[in-house]
Amino acid sequence: MTGGAAQRQTLLIVDDVRDNIKVLANLLRDQARILVATDGETALHLAAAEPIDGILLDIMMPTLDGYEVCRRLKADPATHDIPVIFVTVLDESTDEEAGLRLGAFDYIARPFVPAIVRARVGNMLRLQATTQGLRRANAQLKEMAATDALTGAVNRRQFFILAEHERVRCLRARRPLSLAMLDVDHFKSINDTYGHAAGDQVLIGLVAEACRLLRQSDVVARLGGEEFAVLLPETGRDDALASAERLRAGIPSLSFNAGADTFSVTASVGVALIADEDDDIDAALKRADVALYEAKRGGRNQVRFGA
Ligand code: GH3
Ligand code: MG
Ligand code: MG
Repeated sequence: MTGGAAQRQTLLIVDDVRDNIKVLANLLRDQARILVATDGETALHLAAAEPIDGILLDIMMPTLDGYEVCRRLKADPATHDIPVIFVTVLDESTDEEAGLRLGAFDYIARPFVPAIVRARVGNMLRLQATTQGLRRANAQLKEMAATDALTGAVNRRQFFILAEHERVRCLRARRPLSLAMLDVDHFKSINDTYGHAAGDQVLIGLVAEACRLLRQSDVVARLGGEEFAVLLPETGRDDALASAERLRAGIPSLSFNAGADTFSVTASVGVALIADEDDDIDAALKRADVALYEAKRGGRNQVRFGA
C-alpha cells in the first residue's frame, strides 16, 4: 500500500440534528477523522476547502436539503469525486432511488443497524482510497510520459503538443511565438574526456540553468541526445534573440566536476519565429536548425537567427 493510502481518511457528517451527528460520530470515529456540519451551505464550504474522503448526508434539512447538497457536490469538479452516503428517515424506495440517481454511493434508512453503517462506510472509504491511489498513479504516469527522465525537461513528444497548442493560441491572440534550438558544443569530446556520467551532469545542469534564465512560460524541451528546443510564447524576433543570448552567455559559467577535473561547456543556438502562414512548427524548427548549423559553422558558442 502507498504512503498516501495509509493516511487517516476524513469523513464529513452533515445533519441539522446535533444528536444524530453525535451518534454517527461516536460510531465511526475509529474509522476516520470526523468533520461535522449542521447545514448544507457549511457542508459545501467544507467539502470544497478540506480533503474529504466521504460524506454522510441527511436529506431533510432547512434551506438546502440533502438532495440539493448532493446535486451541487456532483456539479462541482472540486467535489465531484467525493462519495456520498445518504442517512435519512426517508425510507420509501422512491427516496432511495432519487438519492442513488443523484450519484450517491449508498443509502442508509433510519433506524439503522450500527454494524451495517460501519460496514457500508468502511466499503466507501476503502474504495475511495483505491480510487485516489489510481488517480495519483495516473497523474504520475501522465507526468512521466511528458518528461525526459534524465533532465526533467519536457520530452520531444510533449514539446510538439505544447508547441502546437501555443502556435494556435498565439496566432488567435495575434501574439508572436518564437523557438530556439540549442546544441552543446563538442559534446562528444566531453563524454570522451570526462566520461558519460559527466556528460549526463552537463545535460542536467544545462536544463536547470535554462529554466532559471528563461521565463516561467517558456518551455525547455530535450529533443534528443544533447539537442534542446525552447519555446518562447509571446516573444518576437528581438526578444527571442535576447533570451537565446542570455542562455548562451550563461552556460559557460556553469562548472562541472569529473573526479579531480573541473570543466565548463558552451552551446550554439539557432532562433526562429513562427510565421502566421505556418501550418505547424516544422518549418520554424527547420529555420532554427539551419541557424544552429550556421552558429556551429561560424565557430560555435554563438546565437544565429533563421530567417
Ligand atoms: P557539435 O559541437 O558539432 O555539436 O559536436 P558534438 O560532439 O556535440 O556533436 P555530436 O553529434 O558529434 O555528438 C553528440 C554526442 O552526444 C554523441 C552522443 O554520445 C552524446 N549523447 C547523446 N545523448 C547523450 C546522453 O544522454 N548522455 C550523454 N552523456 N551523452 C549523450
Ligand atoms: Mg434533518
Ligand atoms: Mg553537439
